[in-house]
Amino acid sequence: MNVTAQSVWNNCLSFIKDNIQPQAYKTWFEPIVAVKLTDNALSIQVPSKFFYEWLEEHYVKILKVALTKELGETAKLVYVIKMENTYGNKQPFTEKIPSSNRTAVKSQDVDIPLNNKNTELKNPFVIPGIRNVKIESQLNPNYNFENFLEGDSNRLARNAGLAVANKPGGTSFNPLLIFGGVGLGKTHLAHAIGIDIKDKYPEKTVLYISAEKFTQQYIDSVKKNNRNDFIHFYQIIDVLIIDDVQFFSGKSGTQDVFFHIFNHLHQNGKQVILTSDKAPVDMQDIEQRLLSRFKWGLSAELQSPDFETRVSILKNKLYRDGVEMPEEIIEYVAKNIKTNVRELEGAIISLIAQSSFNKKEITINLAKDIVEKFVKNTKREVSIDYIQKVVSDYFQMDVSTLQSKTRKRHIVQARQLAMFFAKKFTKASLASIGSQIGKRDHATVLHACKTVDNLSSTDKQFRKYVEDLSKKLSL
Ligand code: ADP
Ligand code: MG
Repeated sequence: MNVTAQSVWNNCLSFIKDNIQPQAYKTWFEPIVAVKLTDNALSIQVPSKFFYEWLEEHYVKILKVALTKELGETAKLVYVIKMENTYGNKQPFTEKIPSSNRTAVKSQDVDIPLNNKNTELKNPFVIPGIRNVKIESQLNPNYNFENFLEGDSNRLARNAGLAVANKPGGTSFNPLLIFGGVGLGKTHLAHAIGIDIKDKYPEKTVLYISAEKFTQQYIDSVKKNNRNDFIHFYQIIDVLIIDDVQFFSGKSGTQDVFFHIFNHLHQNGKQVILTSDKAPVDMQDIEQRLLSRFKWGLSAELQSPDFETRVSILKNKLYRDGVEMPEEIIEYVAKNIKTNVRELEGAIISLIAQSSFNKKEITINLAKDIVEKFVKNTKREVSIDYIQKVVSDYFQMDVSTLQSKTRKRHIVQARQLAMFFAKKFTKASLASIGSQIGKRDHATVLHACKTVDNLSSTDKQFRKYVEDLSKKLSL
């Protein structure tokens, strides 16, 4: 280390410290290391490119003042970006970071070996703006608008998606939240919007990511101590698509970081697209402030497709696969598989496979066999939401009543039954059951299960409730 560099920088730091918020000082200045001082240019090492951008955007003035005080009008500042500190190679964006540095460096005609770990960015207070960071969008080209067939069940969501794609960030559909049950096309539609935006605005940075992966990246960033890099990475995106945000349930750290990213993007006119398997009102364990953000734009539901739409989805799929199939068979499949497009496609794929492996003709009987097996094998999974719904319906109350804090006996009993069945029919932990059924703790759930056990052996009426509900739930 260079002693003069260090002392010059220390003087700058004490000036800066007196002039900005302590938290900001801690975040943005403490991690900086002074490296050297040559030709009146002070080199400082920053942990990442985002860090550098952030300093440039928010602290360039104070840096200039501080440095000029120390070194006079000819002072220069050189950033050295430490590359080892960035993400591991699995992240979609890592490999891109060096190359974008390269562009930035090149554009200023500074010759730097590209495989050098420490990339220098010479920037004496001119804000160069490394704005064209290249980020892989992670979009699947097979999920486009062309093969996302329109029907009554998806008209609103599909058209809102098209509107957003025409003017990302420029409509009131921000965020656009697409919600609906499994296999109804949320992921497909989300990709389609991203792909259309990329077509129309190639210069925009679009990123598709599942909420699960986002959470994982966030956890990693906390472990590796580069939470700020994580945030800044997401803040430079123009169109952020997060799939299955219900996954954020109960994950307060991730919700918090997403909240900040969301606000930043929204304030800067960037587009956010979210999907969820529930409407915002039904989301559990998502902070209120985040839920209210979800509702700022448009929530559009994907419903189960009607018969005509199911037929056209099937025909379109067969056409794209180059397979011919008699009309009556297509209609038979469409008539019998109703709830979800993924199952619909699955049934038709098995039908094609069966007929070609066994060299059988595709007949209505073969279709019957397969549909029957299909419907049987995809017996629906019981969810805690579903249990609460069935129990509340049975006792003729709303789910919100069942979840409420009241001590009224019949409501307490209904709630205890819901907890008991959740334990019996799902793999959820006591804690998770408690948090989903009216935000109770695991001890309450345990107590509920014991109470239901006891009452069913002592109270005849109560035993009848348990039997009735068991039947309803194990259809
Ligand atoms: P989700 O994310 O809601 O669970 P997906 O987007 O994965 O559902 O859709 C399941 C399957 O159904 C995908 O293969 C998708 O292409 C297909 N699909 C859903 N809706 C449509 C539609 N309207 N037109 C064509 N294919 C659809
Ligand atoms: Mg999906």
